[in-house]
Amino acid sequence: MKILKIDHLGIAVSSIESGKVFWTETLGLGFEGTETIAEQKVTTAFLPVGESEVELLESTAPDGPIAKYIEKKGAGIQHIAFRVDDIESALAELKAKGVQLIDEKPRLGAGGAKIAFLHPKATGGVLVELCER
Ligand code: ZN
Repeated sequence: MKILKIDHLGIAVSSIESGKVFWTETLGLGFEGTETIAEQKVTTAFLPVGESEVELLESTAPDGPIAKYIEKKGAGIQHIAFRVDDIESALAELKAKGVQLIDEKPRLGAGGAKIAFLHPKATGGVLVELCER
């Protein structure tokens, strides 16, 4: 498994429209629009920062994972995403090491990336996403 870089930080917001103000107007990050991933009940917006990005996540439904996260822990950093060179082999390697996975197989994320989440129980409480683009 090869981790190439921190791909992005996922930040749960109750609204991208109001949540983006700090990132765009105060920090001056670029905003390139939103994308809704219907089956994950989330709308995302990626704001480039050098070679990485900030991902804002807004729930599209009250029972979506982001809505549940905000209800439980409040808005803020929800996950950290590492870019890997080969997500299938990374998942196989982690599984062989006994790491609890949320996704045993990659699914389609924003921007056509292949993504998979590791269980926070296996990572010391951090929701870790692997992505391959
Ligand atoms: Zn993400």
